[in-house]
Amino acid sequence: FLTHAHMGHYTGMLHLGREVMGTQDIPVFAMPKMKEFLESNSPWDQLVSLNNIEIQLMKNDKEIKLADGLFIEPFLVPHRDEYSETVGFKIIGVNKSVLFIPDIDKWEKWDQDIFQVIQHIDIALLDGTFYSQGELPNRDMSEIPHPFIVESMETLYPLNTPNRNKVHFIHFNHSNPAIKIGTASNLIRSNRFNVAREGMIFPL
Ligand SMILES: [Zn+2]
Ligand SMILES: [Zn+2]
Repeated sequence: FLTHAHMGHYTGMLHLGREVMGTQDIPVFAMPKMKEFLESNSPWDQLVSLNNIEIQLMKNDKEIKLADGLFIEPFLVPHRDEYSETVGFKIIGVNKSVLFIPDIDKWEKWDQDIFQVIQHIDIALLDGTFYSQGELPNRDMSEIPHPFIVESMETLYPLNTPNRNKVHFIHFNHSNPAIKIGTASNLIRSNRFNVAREGMIFPL
């Protein structure tokens, strides 16, 4: 399930090609522009022509049944869409539902209210790319907008504790101090939000 055409979100598919695994018909779920991008640019088009992957078209806000009691639904989010649109996913299980938004420019640009959305979901995996302004020396951070973790915490702090506890920040840049145990990760936890760690499992 592809969110968008930025480096960390689709380039791993190269390993499905003839040079490495040489897979056959691996289902790849993509939105219309993402599908078009893969089909019309090298080296991705070869994955299509050799049937290493089989692209399944997704539609905005249209849920896909994965198994009995398991559904996934893509929804568009604002992001620097140079090559493709960008989506987040809602994953709906029998007992629990997950919101997955690894990339979004800023919460204010979204047509939904993250504060409301969290109250109607069980687990929220949210863009935590950068902790705060000034994290990248010599880069204009307005060119690569993400909601800073400090901004997200400010927006979501009025939620009650059980709702804040649903939030797990993900998708950290290497510059993000929250990836280490320390002041940033302690502050996140003391505000009753969470820092996601590799290998976490969320039963649905
Ligand atoms: Zn991105
Ligand atoms: Zn990303």
